[in-house]
Amino acid sequence: MKAKIDLSQTPCDQLKGVGAKTAERLARLGIHHVQDVLFHLPLRYQDRTRIHAMSELIPGEHVVIEGIVDSIATPKVGRTRLLCRLHDETGRVAIRFFYTNAFQRKQIEIGLKIRCYGEVRFGSEGLEMIHPEYHIITPETFFPNETNLTPIYPTTEGLSQLTWRKLTEQALNLLRQGALLHDILPEKILQNITFPSLHDALHFVHRPPIDAEINLLVEKKHVTQKRLVFEELLAHHLSLLHLKKSFQVQNAFSLEKKSDLAKHFLQSLSFTLTNAQQKVTAEISEDLSKQNPMLRLVQGDVGSGKTVVAALAILQAIENQFQSAILAPTELLAEQHFKTFQKWFAPLGLKVVLLSSQMKTAEKKSALSAIEDGSAHVAIGTHAIFQKTVSFKKLALIIVDEQHRFGVQQRAMLREKGVQNNFYPHQLIMTATPIPRTLAMSVYADLDYSVIDELPPGRTPVSTIVISNTRRDEVLKRIYEACSEGRQAYWVCTLIEESDLLQCQAAENTAKELETIFPDLKIALIHGRMKPAEKETVMSNFKNGKIQLLVATTVIEVGVDVPNASLMVIENAERLGLAQLHQLRGRVGRGAIASHCVLMYQAPLSHQAKERLAVMRETTDGFKIAQRDLELRGPGEVLGTRQTGEMALRIADLMRDSDLLNGVQQAAALLQKDHPETIQALINRWLGASAKYGHV
Ligand code: ADP
Ligand code: MG
Repeated sequence: MKAKIDLSQTPCDQLKGVGAKTAERLARLGIHHVQDVLFHLPLRYQDRTRIHAMSELIPGEHVVIEGIVDSIATPKVGRTRLLCRLHDETGRVAIRFFYTNAFQRKQIEIGLKIRCYGEVRFGSEGLEMIHPEYHIITPETFFPNETNLTPIYPTTEGLSQLTWRKLTEQALNLLRQGALLHDILPEKILQNITFPSLHDALHFVHRPPIDAEINLLVEKKHVTQKRLVFEELLAHHLSLLHLKKSFQVQNAFSLEKKSDLAKHFLQSLSFTLTNAQQKVTAEISEDLSKQNPMLRLVQGDVGSGKTVVAALAILQAIENQFQSAILAPTELLAEQHFKTFQKWFAPLGLKVVLLSSQMKTAEKKSALSAIEDGSAHVAIGTHAIFQKTVSFKKLALIIVDEQHRFGVQQRAMLREKGVQNNFYPHQLIMTATPIPRTLAMSVYADLDYSVIDELPPGRTPVSTIVISNTRRDEVLKRIYEACSEGRQAYWVCTLIEESDLLQCQAAENTAKELETIFPDLKIALIHGRMKPAEKETVMSNFKNGKIQLLVATTVIEVGVDVPNASLMVIENAERLGLAQLHQLRGRVGRGAIASHCVLMYQAPLSHQAKERLAVMRETTDGFKIAQRDLELRGPGEVLGTRQTGEMALRIADLMRDSDLLNGVQQAAALLQKDHPETIQALINRWLGASAKYGHV
C-alpha cells in the first residue's frame, strides 16, 4: 500500500498544471510545497453562485450574467478595442475590452452564449462590463454554476485567479483523500479553544458554502478564520521569541555599574528621579552589566522623562570607557538632544557630538574624527549616524529615540549596526507611542520591555478645549494674553496633503498673518525645510524666551521640550489622528504652569473626528488615548500600517484579533516548555521563506 503523502513535503509541481514556469512564479511568493498552496489564503470573496437577469442589474454590483452575443465591434478610434453586445431574455448588456488578443477576437462569435463575471457599470452603451472574466458556454464545455463563494487570492503577474482556484482545488482534494497535513498545535492547546479542526478551517476559507455568513468572512471574523488567525499569530510570536533568543546569545561588552559619574550627574539636575524612572534605570543597568546585548524597549508617555533614563545608561557605558550613539527620528530632535546632552555632560568633562546631514564639511570632519579616535563619548544624529563613513572606536550602546514606526525588519537591521569583532552593542529603544500592554507584548515580543508609568510631580494636566475656527478671534485673544503674561505659545499648522512643501507654505502664510495681527509679539517660524542652523537658532531663541509665539508644522511633534510654553493651538485638529494629537499636545504641560491646548477645527466634523476630539478633551492619559484609538480606528492602523505590513501577516491582524493575543502568548509558552519540537514546523508553515529575520 502506498504511504500517505505529506503535503508539507510534496512539491507544488506534483499538481496538475504546474510546469517549470508556474513553479517558479509560485516560488517567488514563497510557495514551494502543496501545504504552502493551502496556506495561501483568499483576500476576499465573490458571490458567483447565481446568474443575474440583465434586467435586474445595478451599477456597482459584481455579478454573473449569461447572454447571447448580438454584435461584435472592433473600433479603430478611442480606447475600446473590442465591444460586444449581449442579451438574455430580460435585457441587454455590453462588454468592453481595452486590449484583446487574436485568440480572443477569433473565439467570440455572434450567436455564442457567454457567461461573464464583472462589475456592472453605466456607460455609453447603457449597462456595461469592462474586462469581465468570461467563458464561452457550449454543450461540450458545460460550465456548472459555482456552488461556493468564489475566493479571490492575492497574486502576482502570470498567476490568474483561475490558476489559483485550480491549484487550491487540487490541494483540497488531496486533503479530502487523506493526504497528511499535520495539525501542529498540540491537543492541550486546542482543548482550550473552541475552534474547528485545521482541515475544516482550510476547506471553509478556500471554498465557503453559499450560506456562509459573508459579513463575518469579509471582516475575517468567522470562527474558521479565527482558527487560522490563532495559528498564524502563534507562529509569528514564536518567531519573535526565537529572534530574541538568538540575539541573547551574542556577545556584548559587559558594562559594570560604577556610580561616580551617575552620582555627579544626578546631583547636577534640578530634580530627583521619579520612582518609575529609578525602576527602569535599574532594569537597564542590570542588562548593561551582562555579557549579552541588551535589547530593551522603554515605553513612557510624552513628558515622562525618558531622556534622563537614557543619559544614565550612557553614563554607565562611559564609565566603562565605551561610546554611545543616540539615533533620533528627525534632525530637529537630534539637535535638541545635542543641546540637552551638552548641557548635562559638558560640566562632567564629557564630549558630545552631533552628526547632521547638512553640517559644514569641516564641522563634520571634526565630529567624525572625534567619533573615530574615541574622544567623543556620545554621538547624536539621525540615521546618518550609521553611514559607512562613521566608524566608532568603541561603541557599546545605541539609544533609539521616538521611533513610532519601528517594524521587525528595521529592528533586525538595527541589530547589525555597530557590530565590531562579533561584539554587539546594547540597545535601548524609547517610545512614547502608548500601545496597550497585550499588544506591545506581541508586537515587541523580541524585546524586553519597561514602562515609565508615572509623570514627574508638579505637572498640571493640560486642559484642552475644542473650538470651531469660526471663533478664531477668541483664540487669537488667548494667544495674546498668554504671551503678554510672559508665557509662550505654539501655533501648529496641519495639512491633509503629505506634501512637505505645502505644509511649510501653509505655516509661512500663517506666520505672516499672525505677524500682521500682532506687530508687538515676537513671532518665529519653524518647519522641516529650514536649514539645521536656522532651526537651531529658532529653537534656542524660543527656549530662552526671545521668541514668544512659535508657528510650526508638525515637525515639533516629537521631543521638543520648552517648559515655559504653556499654550498650544492646533489648527485643523480634525485632520490629525489621536496618536499625533497626543504627541503634539505633549509639547505643553512640561513645567509647573497650567497649560492649555486649543484644538481648532473646521466644520463639519465627521463622526470619527468628533470622537477623536472628544477623547482629547476628556483625557491626557496616553494609555487611555491609545485604547480609544484602538476602538475607533480600523484594523492595523494604530501601529501604522507599515508596522503590521512588515510582519507580513496573511490572515491575522494584530488590532482586529487582539482578543486572541493573550491565548497566543500562553500557547507560545506552553509550546516552548512542552513541545519545542513543533516550533520550527509552525514557523516554517506560516513564515516560510519570509522568516529571514528569524536568523539574522
Ligand atoms: P520624554 O519622555 O517625553 O522624552 P523628556 O525626557 O523630554 O520627556 O522630559 C520632559 C521634561 O521633564 C524635561 O524638561 C525633563 O528635564 C523633565 N524631567 C524629567 N524627569 C524629571 C523628574 N523626575 N522631575 C522633574 N522633571 C523631570
Ligand atoms: Mg523624548
